[in-house]
Formats: sequence, structure tokens, C-alpha cells
Amino acid sequence: MRALLVEDDPSSALLSTKVLESDGFAVDVATTAQEGLTCARVNEYDVIVLDLGLPDGNGLSVLQALRREGKKAPIMILTGALEKATTVLALDAGADDYLTKPILIDEFRARVRALIRRGGAQRSEQVVCGNVVLNRLTRQLFIQGVEVSLTAKELPLLEHLMLHRDEVITRSELLERVWDMHFDPGSNVVDVNVARIRRKLSDAGADIRIGARRGMGFILCPADAPLA
Ligand code: CA
Repeated sequence: MRALLVEDDPSSALLSTKVLESDGFAVDVATTAQEGLTCARVNEYDVIVLDLGLPDGNGLSVLQALRREGKKAPIMILTGALEKATTVLALDAGADDYLTKPILIDEFRARVRALIRRGGAQRSEQVVCGNVVLNRLTRQLFIQGVEVSLTAKELPLLEHLMLHRDEVITRSELLERVWDMHFDPGSNVVDVNVARIRRKLSDAGADIRIGARRGMGFILCPADAPLA
């Protein structure tokens, strides 16, 4: 899952990033309204966390522009304590939820999860492929009903493949979705993680595996499908 955080205050941005990353999000941080708008236009996000007080304008204008352009990502607004009136404007303009700063970590986490849960089919809580079940909210993976532990990068990588089970997914797409947009594309980090996930799937008796398409990328396939 991928999140965009539009926040100019460095300490607040750092805290929110840590919370989102620990919940399995790849996080892009934008520090101005303009930068936030650009990121949200170029990339697809599962959630956008938007501060209203930004150096080059009000986050409200970002929200309005995105909704006008038909962007449907769930948007969580962060407001200062004295901006109650703006909160109503933001909800009217298409924000999905809001939190008043300073944010409480547990509440922030719970509200982001709730947004994703409400976000429609693509964001449904459970993804099931054969005997492999991934719970996107609790970040748990079960194979044949037994929990299998995956690392903070293995889990979103497998999640992305499960969500796009009939598509070949390129390395660069995985780098972008699971790591962040500035990651070195020459890295072998995708292959290393894919190898580890393959081993965990087969050790636990999964009836799916990660297949490779030479020069193209990866695709989920039945465990007994011929090797490509
Ligand atoms: Ca601010």
C-alpha cells in the first residue's frame, strides 16, 4: 500500500511517516501544496494525509483540485485546533475524515485503517489466493490457516502481487509500490525479497507461487504451474 503525506512540519511528518511505515505503507512526503498536488496527480495512493496549513497555500485547495480532477483516493485532513470551521469546508469538499493536531498515534492508525476499509473493492480487508489469505488491516498472512510471518517489505510485495494476480508486475512497479519512488532502480532488492517469499510460501504448503517472466517481471501462479 502506498500513502502520500502532505505536511510541512518536519517533526510531525517524521512521526506520521514512521506510523504509516510500521503499518506497511510505502510513504511519499510532500512539504508544499504544489508538491502534494504533483505527487497525487502522478502516482496512485491508497490514502492521502493532508495538512491544511502549508507554506504555499491551504491544503483545502489541494483537496478541491484533486476531487475536481476525479481523484478518488481516501483523504485524511490534519487541522490545527483553531481551524474547526475549515474542517467543515474540507468535509464538504470531499475529505473522508479529519484529525485535529497534535495527533494521537493510535487514533491516527485506527482512522487510516478505517479509511482503507471503507475504500471499496480494491481496498477490501482480505485478499485470498488459493489457500493464502492476507489481512490488509492486521497485516497478517495465513497459509492453510496457519500464520506465516513476513517482513515489512515482503508483506506489501506479496500483497501487490495478490491484488494484481492476473498481471505481470515489473520490478520497477514493485520498487515504486513497496519501497519509495526515489529507490535506486538498479538494486536487486526485489529479487532478494521475492526469493525469500517463494521459500516461505513453499515451506508453508501454499498452492500459489511467484512466477517469473523473463525480462518482464513477476506474476502469481498456481504452485503446480510449469516454471517459466
Ligand atoms: Ca503545517
